[in-house]
Amino acid sequence: MDAHSDLEMIDQAEGKCLCGAVAVAVKQLKPLVDICHCDMCRRWGGGPFMGVSGEAFSVTGKEHVTSYPSSDWAERAFCAKCGSNLWYRFTPTDHHSFAAGLFDIGDGAEIEQQIFVDEKPAFYDFAQETPMKTGAEIIEEAKAAGLEFD
Ligand SMILES: [Zn+2]
Ligand SMILES: [Zn+2]
Repeated sequence: MDAHSDLEMIDQAEGKCLCGAVAVAVKQLKPLVDICHCDMCRRWGGGPFMGVSGEAFSVTGKEHVTSYPSSDWAERAFCAKCGSNLWYRFTPTDHHSFAAGLFDIGDGAEIEQQIFVDEKPAFYDFAQETPMKTGAEIIEEAKAAGLEFD
């Protein structure tokens, strides 16, 4: 059962950082936003991370991209000129989750799930009803998919 079956893939989504030095083109972007409430995402971006992903992508202005290895299994990239967050890269699978705000996908997108809800501070909540997963549940899902941590 797919609650989002009426949503259309975006064939080619063009995104860019605040200053425009870095542009990202993503093919077959899924208009489903993953929201992470973990401590690291909130410290990184000042609030929960909202990520989208697709099938393939290309980056222009790579010379302005700085990648920060935030843990043994992830890197977080940002524009060194304007500080915009660009993507979260899960290194074991090379999966890139791009900051949703880079793209103009306001309408026609929905929240897919909220994760690390056990680390979400109490002062905010999203009004939408979405799947809510704790950090332990996410780590179990990743292990079930064959990934190893620590
Ligand atoms: Zn920039
Ligand atoms: Zn996070």
